[in-house]
Amino acid sequence: MLDTLIIGSGPAGLSAAIYAKRAGLSLAVVEKNAVSGGQILNTWEVDNYPGLPGINGFDLGMKFREHADKLAIDFIEGEAVSLTPGSDAHRVKLDNGEEYEAKTVIIATGAIHAALGVPGEDTFMGKGVSYCATCDGGFFNGKETAVIGGGDVAVEDAIYLSRICSKVALIHRRDELRASNILKEELLNTPNITVYWNSIVKEIRGEAAVSSLLLENVATKETSELSTAAAFIAVGIRPDTAIVRDIVECDEGGYVIAGEDCETSVPGIYVAGDARKKRLRQVVTAAADGANAATAAADHINRH
Ligand SMILES: Cc1cc2nc3c(=O)[nH]c(=O)nc-3n(C[C@H](O)[C@H](O)[C@H](O)COP(=O)(O)OP(=O)(O)OC[C@H]3O[C@@H](n4cnc5c(N)ncnc54)[C@H](O)[C@@H]3O)c2cc1C
Repeated sequence: MLDTLIIGSGPAGLSAAIYAKRAGLSLAVVEKNAVSGGQILNTWEVDNYPGLPGINGFDLGMKFREHADKLAIDFIEGEAVSLTPGSDAHRVKLDNGEEYEAKTVIIATGAIHAALGVPGEDTFMGKGVSYCATCDGGFFNGKETAVIGGGDVAVEDAIYLSRICSKVALIHRRDELRASNILKEELLNTPNITVYWNSIVKEIRGEAAVSSLLLENVATKETSELSTAAAFIAVGIRPDTAIVRDIVECDEGGYVIAGEDCETSVPGIYVAGDARKKRLRQVVTAAADGANAATAAADHINRH
């Protein structure tokens, strides 16, 4: 039996692993993706992680993983599909049928993008529909593209694409952006970006790949067709906490409720990073949660 099993190897899971290993715990990290690093792999620049200004997101993810590898931490490839709590040990089952027992479990499953839920979104996934402008923008060099959303990520995506694409349409359902002022200003001063205010996407259209979007103006109910080679969807994220929602206390959005020690409503089960209900979801707060969760898990083991 392991002392701790960590689910997820984004910044929170990798930080938890480093702290757990250094605390002398036996542990393993389960990761469903081929690559560790989590969401940060999808951003071209992280400019707010102390000590590493302007680092590429993928490189930062690799640095976290290299640190864990240096400590000879065990990684298990697979998706955790169920968690069964117990009084002495918790059981985690993977999608390949393997089961692991651990005295403590750290949920570091992070968050995933929200979908628009319109016709064409699934059909054209990877054929013009994307949730990551920094990953897929290069495929649309010199073409007309569209971004859907109005927060920081959507605005950053539009600015990023404006440097690669001939024209960028930003489609936003309200008449005001939620993004920070500095980003808004840059967006509105970028000549090849057009904002479609009060507009929603009703359908993503095309044949082999995306060729247009059917838009509706929510104020006038008028519809129009916008020609585009790509739809970059940036309408928010949701916690990837399905496996624990019926086990530990969560808020209405599915974020796991825990205080600074990251302990959930079930003793011995901890949550770290974007999956936790908290104010700021960033690399630095995810890494801090990982450290706190691993330290609390070590205390729990020492007490029992
Ligand atoms: C486009 C973009 C740009 C960003 N830019 C910045 C920035 O500039 N600065 C900043 O500080 N933050 C930024 N963030 C936010 C930052 O990436 C997150 O706050 C951080 O990655 C959260 O870390 P995490 O470990 O909690 O979760 P995640 O990074 O989401 O990692 C979770 C990991 O768990 C794995 N996982 C999930 N479920 C399971 C399961 N059931 N079984 C096994 N594995 C599982 C996932 O595959 C993933 O690897 C950005 C995010 C995005 C999307």
